[in-house]
Amino acid sequence: FAPWNDPNAKPYIQFENVTKRFGDFTAVNNLSLTIFEREFFALLGASGCGKSTLLRMLAGFEEPTAGRILLDGQDLRGIPPYRRPVNMMFQSYALFPHMTVENNIAFGLKQDGMARPDIERRVGEMLKLVKLEQFAKRKPHQLSGGQRQRVALARSVAKRPKVLLLDEPLGALDKKLREETQFELMDLQQELGLTFVVVTHDQEEAMTMADRIAIMDKGEVMQVATPAEVYEAPGSRFVAGFVGNVNMFEGKVARGAAGAASIDAGNGITIRTENAGDAAAGATVAFAIRPEKIKVSSKKPADAVNAIEGEVYDIAYLGDMTVYHIKLDDGHVVRASAMNAARVTEDPLTWNDRAWVSFRPDAGVVLTR
Ligand code: ATP
Repeated sequence: FAPWNDPNAKPYIQFENVTKRFGDFTAVNNLSLTIFEREFFALLGASGCGKSTLLRMLAGFEEPTAGRILLDGQDLRGIPPYRRPVNMMFQSYALFPHMTVENNIAFGLKQDGMARPDIERRVGEMLKLVKLEQFAKRKPHQLSGGQRQRVALARSVAKRPKVLLLDEPLGALDKKLREETQFELMDLQQELGLTFVVVTHDQEEAMTMADRIAIMDKGEVMQVATPAEVYEAPGSRFVAGFVGNVNMFEGKVARGAAGAASIDAGNGITIRTENAGDAAAGATVAFAIRPEKIKVSSKKPADAVNAIEGEVYDIAYLGDMTVYHIKLDDGHVVRASAMNAARVTEDPLTWNDRAWVSFRPDAGVVLTR
C-alpha cells in the first residue's frame, strides 16, 4: 500500500494553498497536502503548530481564509460539517454519561432518522468491532478508560463516514493502554477500509500507526513521508531533531565528490560521509546521525573511518538496550545506543572511562536546511 508512489493514484483529500488566519495571526500558512483513500495519515507537530486547525477545516468547523480543500474531487467550501462524509472522533470524555454504551453508539443514527431495526443491527456490529458486546448496557462511568475510548470510537464510525478524523485520540490513556489502543486503531482502520487522519504531538504514536506523517511547524508542512523515511532520511534539521533522538554536528563541507565529503565540525573533528548529496564545498551543513548507528568501544577501532575519543558521561541500562552518553573532548555530548539482545556479559565500560565513538561513512545524513 503506497499510493503516494503511484503517479496515477487519485488524490482523495487535497489541501491546496490553504491559509487560515485568526485576526492577524496565521495559524496555517499556504499549506498544500495530498492524502490518499484508505491511508492512515498523521499530522505531527508541537502544540500550536496548526494541526488541529487543519483538521477542523477538513471537518467543516472552520473555513480556510484562502485556498481550497477537496474531498474526492469536490470542493468542500460552504458544505456544513454534518453534510461532509467526514466524522471527528472526540476523546472519551465526550460520551453522554447518562446513556448506556449502546445508546451512546446509537445516538447519531437516531438523529439521522435511521429505522430502529437498522440501528440495532448497526450498533451490534459496532459493539462487536470494538469487542464490547458484553458491556452494551453499562454506562461510561462503569467502564475503564480504554473501554470508554472504544465506545467513543464505535460511536464515531457508526455512521460509516468515509474519513475519520482523530484529534489526540489517545491523550487520556496511560502509556501501556495507549500502545495497545494504537494497534487496535490500526486493525480497525484496516477492517473498515476508511481513511484516517490523526492529529498528535506524540512522535511514537505517529510512527506506530501512520502510513505517512506530515511534520508541521508554525502552520507549515516541513516534510511528508513514511515513518521510515522521516527517521532515516529527514529533510531538515528541524525534522531530524523532532523525530527520535539524533546527534548533530554543525560544520563546513571541506571537499566533496559524488556524495562523498569531509565535514569540518571544528575542534579537530572531521567527519567523513558518503551521504553529502550535492552539498557544495564550503557550505554550512549539519551532519545528523542516530544513536544506534554509533558504536562505543574502550579502544580505538582499528578500521574505523570515523572515530572520536571522549569519556563516558553516563550509561543507562533500559532492558532492551543500553544508552550511552559520551562526552567528546570538545564538550559535545554524543548519544549512542546498543541493543542488548546479543549481550552475554556485563558491560565493560563504566562511568568516566575513556571511550571511542565510531561510525561508518554511510551512517548519517547531511542536512543543508
Ligand atoms: P495543540 O496540540 O495545542 O492543540 P495545534 O497544533 O493543534 O496545537 P491549533 O489548535 O491548530 O494548534 O492552533 C494553532 C494556533 O492558532 C495556536 O496558536 C492557537 O492559539 C491559534 N488558534 C486556534 N484557534 C483559534 C481561534 N479560534 N482564535 C484565535 N486563535 C486560534
